[in-house]
Amino acid sequence: MPLLSVIVPMYNEQDALPLLVERLRPALDAITESYEVVAVNDGSVDATGSILHLMRTTWPQLRVITFSRNCGHQAALTAGLHRAHGDYVISIDADLQDPPEKIAEMLTLARSEQLDVVYGVRNDRRTDTVTKRATAGMYYGLMRRMVGNRVPAHGGDFRLLSRRAVETLRSLPEQAPVYRLLIPWLGLPSGEVHYSREKRVAGSTKYPFGKMVRLAMDSITSFSALPLRLATWMGSLGFVLCILLSIATVIAFISGVTVPGWTSLSLAIMFIGAVQLLCLGLMGEYISRIYTTIQGRPAYFIGADTAMTGPAAEQNIPIPRLPGQLIR
Ligand code: UDP
Ligand code: MG
Repeated sequence: MPLLSVIVPMYNEQDALPLLVERLRPALDAITESYEVVAVNDGSVDATGSILHLMRTTWPQLRVITFSRNCGHQAALTAGLHRAHGDYVISIDADLQDPPEKIAEMLTLARSEQLDVVYGVRNDRRTDTVTKRATAGMYYGLMRRMVGNRVPAHGGDFRLLSRRAVETLRSLPEQAPVYRLLIPWLGLPSGEVHYSREKRVAGSTKYPFGKMVRLAMDSITSFSALPLRLATWMGSLGFVLCILLSIATVIAFISGVTVPGWTSLSLAIMFIGAVQLLCLGLMGEYISRIYTTIQGRPAYFIGADTAMTGPAAEQNIPIPRLPGQLIR
């Protein structure tokens, strides 16, 4: 078992990859020889896969897990966590926005203070775009209200986990785990390492708006049923409005001004229609998650894992737990 596993999810990172290795490898070599780098190739369609396999010829600690298609960042993290062998497992992005040099500090902190989790917290996001900062601010504000203040205000997916934390996560039945919330929610002893967020070193963001919305939706639905209760609140409000309107209608009828009223009528219809659709949509979000959970399909499909071929084949590779087996 290596001391350290470093999980790097990557999706079309051919430009960033050589620069990442240039910094990651010396940073790890300086700590220990006993490490593995688990590169999870999340269905890249560029040269990421071939570059990785080329690198493996000169870097024995590099292990490559290849997905059969793009399954998403959190799924790539899941595969890495399920399959990493290390006593400590670190996840880091491939675009060098998180400095690999901080890994040593994380490990020292975890070992000296017997911590299960060390978060990499971005104390400076000046290099992010204004929209990214604004949406991130809203996201973390909401998440801290929902999950609690244990969620670091700007903790992304750069963090260290102990074997104990990894095993706990592996035992959870989550279908769409959002690790940046799930891990604080476990309440394990944790610490923080601060760093300033750098610019993406090459390539462009793999988190377009749609994926960010999906992450936010997964985050909310996996920790709160409050949106479902929105219907109740809207319904109560509608009822009160309805009583007021009834009074106004009767008064209008008595005073003989019944024909005007088109504006209020169409507004009421539009408002109620919108609220009903919104509530239906919210219910749909939860129902779709129940549906995917019942389908029990795995969150990712592994095409190949280099640890399963060659000299490392004798190693006992943990079989990824299929979410379906939890429905008994
Ligand atoms: N990523 C992935 N699969 C995806 C999207 C992203 O594995 O479907 C990886 C990506 O290669 C990177 C990390 O997740 O290593 C974070 O993505 P990115 O840096 O593009 O996100 P941002 O920093 O812009 O939020
Ligand atoms: Mg990034």
